[in-house]
Amino acid sequence: MKAVVYEGPRKVSVKDVPDARIEEPTDLLVRITTTNICGSDLHMYEGRTSFETGRVFGHENLGEVVEVGPAVSKVKVGEYVVLPFNVACGHCKQCEKGLTNYCLTMQPVPELAGAAYGFADMGPYQGGQAELLRVPYGDFNALRLGEDAEERQTDYVMLADIFPTGYHATEMAQVKPGDQTVIFGAGPVGQMAAYSAMLKGASRVWAVDHQPDRLALAEKIGAIPVNSAEVNPSEVIKDATLGLGADNGCECVGYQAHDPQGHEDASLTLNGLIDAVRFTGHLGVVGVFLPEDPGGKEAQNELEAQGKVPIDFGMMWFKGQTMGTGQAPVKKYNRALRDLIAGDKARPSFVVSHEIDLAQAPDAYNNFDERNDGWTKVVMHP
Ligand SMILES: [Zn+2]
Ligand SMILES: [Zn+2]
Repeated sequence: MKAVVYEGPRKVSVKDVPDARIEEPTDLLVRITTTNICGSDLHMYEGRTSFETGRVFGHENLGEVVEVGPAVSKVKVGEYVVLPFNVACGHCKQCEKGLTNYCLTMQPVPELAGAAYGFADMGPYQGGQAELLRVPYGDFNALRLGEDAEERQTDYVMLADIFPTGYHATEMAQVKPGDQTVIFGAGPVGQMAAYSAMLKGASRVWAVDHQPDRLALAEKIGAIPVNSAEVNPSEVIKDATLGLGADNGCECVGYQAHDPQGHEDASLTLNGLIDAVRFTGHLGVVGVFLPEDPGGKEAQNELEAQGKVPIDFGMMWFKGQTMGTGQAPVKKYNRALRDLIAGDKARPSFVVSHEIDLAQAPDAYNNFDERNDGWTKVVMHP
């Protein structure tokens, strides 16, 4: 089968690899029809993780079931399914609590938790930027789609990661109807966080970024754009809230946060959030931060290479804020978000800028990595 293979920093190729196949009785085999490139693929693409060369990318996957293992009883051949990026077992201590993002049995390293398709440090599972994908514990992991699956693939594929991840950010930030919410980062996940806050009935949502195309997209869905290259976001937000700040906020950028000149500072958006949110506000951090940054070792900041991010903790403590962190438990939200799409209440495909064939992946990775104008979210059809 054809697949997008990691060849080393800033190099991917589309080539033939052995077909994915059923390996365990509980597996599904899915013919991938839609798969996305994600911002977290870029951390791996840039060589800023331990992702091994030769592995297949792709954790945002949707497709048609073409084969089921003998122990699969619910999911049927021919059904369209969307797969949470989390690979989970359903029976460990974490999965039983709904925390499929930190599943204990699918992660082979005993001191780690959590597994994903095509992801650094998250198990051996191949990605779905390929013609076929093996899905472990298919009955548990696959979310089945209705009759509109084929025509709305670009909406439903967002259930694999970015829509639930954006939603999870707003859950950790405890966004409620009427809240005034600030979102740092207007990339795909930030867009989904802003969109989720509005679905929950937030009264005002600010989207902070320095990329004009991303801000324009956030404005289109009803957020208030704040260009951090031109203004101080917390000043704008405090001016609009009697000096108090937003009720809550989300961080959707991660450790490669940088200023408009490209200077990286992993604490930039976290400190912006602590400043812009009022006393006792809740912060949801879904931007990726890692315990070690292989690419950061040459950087000036020795601390950040070791995953140490100096944030304004004194101010955060003084303000009595709480912070939720980590990857999203997709399964906790994907069913309800699927039904919002099916019921015409949500259209997360607004974020899609490019729909391409798998063969165009190397060019798309390059454009997305360069943050070239207009390259917001790439959807591939293998
Ligand atoms: Zn993703
Ligand atoms: Zn588990």
